[in-house]
Amino acid sequence: MQRPNLAVRTHAQATRIEFEGRRAVGVRFQIADETYSARAAREVILAAGAINSPQLLQLSGIGDLALLDKMQISVIAPSAGVGRNLVDHYAARIAVRVRGAATLNERSHGGPLIVEALRYLFQRRGLLTMAPSNAYGFVRAVEGATRADTQLLFTPASSEVGQVVGQAKLEREPGMTCGVLQLRPYSRGHVCIVDRHPFTAPEIQPNYLADPRDSDTLLAGLRYVRKLFAAEPLASFIAAETWPGRDVGRDDELIDFARRTGSTVYHLVGTCRMGAEESLPVDTSLKVRGVEALRVIDASVMPSIISGNTYATTIMIAERGADLLMR
Ligand SMILES: Cc1cc2nc3c(=O)[nH]c(=O)nc-3n(C[C@H](O)[C@H](O)[C@H](O)COP(=O)(O)OP(=O)(O)OC[C@H]3O[C@@H](n4cnc5c(N)ncnc54)[C@H](O)[C@@H]3O)c2cc1C
Repeated sequence: MQRPNLAVRTHAQATRIEFEGRRAVGVRFQIADETYSARAAREVILAAGAINSPQLLQLSGIGDLALLDKMQISVIAPSAGVGRNLVDHYAARIAVRVRGAATLNERSHGGPLIVEALRYLFQRRGLLTMAPSNAYGFVRAVEGATRADTQLLFTPASSEVGQVVGQAKLEREPGMTCGVLQLRPYSRGHVCIVDRHPFTAPEIQPNYLADPRDSDTLLAGLRYVRKLFAAEPLASFIAAETWPGRDVGRDDELIDFARRTGSTVYHLVGTCRMGAEESLPVDTSLKVRGVEALRVIDASVMPSIISGNTYATTIMIAERGADLLMR
């Protein structure tokens, strides 16, 4: 913050990229009801993430021609790929009743919860400092797979049936949950603006499990977890499967369960896809094609999703982007 060439504006929302001809020259942004402009001496860097980077490009006139036409936005550069290729990890979960071992459930109600709150307050330790998942596994769930196709996320806790861990009350009785996700999904979705107002949320359509290969892999993952829970040493600690329960057994039932109850793990990427092909929105120097002096440096440039959590990879994209800028 001591640098003379850095200014940070908080509570500011960029509303469009400003152009002179095809050259990006700045950013318009809003704080409360006031509108401001920031002028770029060299380049504009877009780093609003996989939802908002394509949204800002579309609002600024870079996107699919039919979309821009429908929204009556002046075209700066046609780029059909902006907002396409949305990909994410989608997780379904199996929960069990635990016996003979303590889980977080029992500490999340009444007296024990008060103790945990005090521990957090005075020691910054305990239940309230824990991440939602504490152990991960990368496994080959599909028969014959040559590398890991599925990620498992273990939580020594379980939500009341029908609710997602992290968004609901934990059960009172001991429980454990294993989330399952396919590492390299084939399904692709999109992000697109629904009007020309920057404060309107764009449409986000992830198309989870649209490709049958994705549902097959997720199914294999769910069956893998059931086998894992049925094997020692875990089996001795498990009284019963509570979610979805053993009466959900057939393939179609399990996939229906996954579709109804699964959720994002917030690994959205790919909507300003980078690559050598001229048709892609961003080139291999992270420059937006069709215009000058504009780059995208965030998770949206990933051509496809990585086989794991996306944060570290995004940091590496940022490091690489910084190197490219300095050239
Ligand atoms: C709840 C959650 C949990 C996650 N857990 C993990 C995890 O455990 N491990 C892991 O590896 N990854 C995790 N991820 C994923 C990881 O956080 C993302 O992949 C990564 O942050 C993407 O970085 P990004 O720079 O592309 O976008 P972001 O980190 O989303 O950064 C974009 C920034 O731009 C700002 N912005 C957007 N639009 C505008 C605008 N118009 N004007 C001004 N500012 C704007 C946003 O406020 C945001 O600060 C998690 C994500 C979420 C949401």
